[in-house]
Amino acid sequence: RPLIAFAGISKTYGNGTLALDDVSFAIRPGVIHAVCGENGAGKSTLMKILFGLEQPSSGSIQLDGEAVAIASPRVAAERGIGMVHQHFSLVPSLSVAENIVLGQEPRRGAFLDRVAARRRVEELSRRYNLAVDPDATVRTLSVAAQQKVEILKALSRDVRVLILDEPTAVLTPPETEELFDRLRDMRAAGLTILFISHKLREVRALASHVTVLRAGKLVGDAPLAAIDDEA
Ligand code: ADP
Ligand code: ADP
Repeated sequence: RPLIAFAGISKTYGNGTLALDDVSFAIRPGVIHAVCGENGAGKSTLMKILFGLEQPSSGSIQLDGEAVAIASPRVAAERGIGMVHQHFSLVPSLSVAENIVLGQEPRRGAFLDRVAARRRVEELSRRYNLAVDPDATVRTLSVAAQQKVEILKALSRDVRVLILDEPTAVLTPPETEELFDRLRDMRAAGLTILFISHKLREVRALASHVTVLRAGKLVGDAPLAAIDDEA
């Protein structure tokens, strides 16, 4: 049974742009699934809909076979969906640990237990092999390290599905290799990874299934192993 099924999703923005046109496909649990396509294809719009940041104009999303209205990021988080944005949502003046606690505790002004926060960051970075200093101020970190914090923040909410929107855009080739190794580890630990990219080479290196969008329409949806076998 698919973990996530998009059924006839269309999205027209307020200005009349048709960003998605009747898109249907399924994501199986425990895979690295890529959504590929040129700029403007509708990839980000689809992921925003899955994360509750945009609502579809028509169509529905099923999680575990059940139609779910993902009205907000809060609903997505409750359903175990986490997202690493292209533009990070970290607070630069706070430490790594503080940022991760803020991600877990949406209550504004909640007391930050620094010792518990540091322990939580250390536990997560050990489990996922994402080494970061919990006491470092986010502003002082490299972009690649900030991305690790962003991933840890998403993972700290007990996600089952991790969406990464063009995560390699800000990385050097060695940093990209390292990210891919970490994503493979996460997949091996049972997470489902949704990897958004416009680079087919990266998709081939990482994913086992690819869905291709072009100008809002689904133009391809296949296991990558099948493609590789033919080549
Ligand atoms: P991709 O992520 O594949 O680059 P997007 O989902 O960002 O594609 O964009 C799909 C289409 O929707 C593009 O034509 C884009 O200009 C348009 N679009 C994206 N966001 C908005 C918005 N907030 N308002 C109007 N049009 C938008
Ligand atoms: P609230 O208004 O009560 O904060 P939201 O639905 O806006 O409710 O947020 C719920 C949770 O989702 C919070 O933990 C928040 O940090 C997270 N969240 C909200 N918007 C985003 C976003 N754009 N990217 C990542 N996480 C978000």
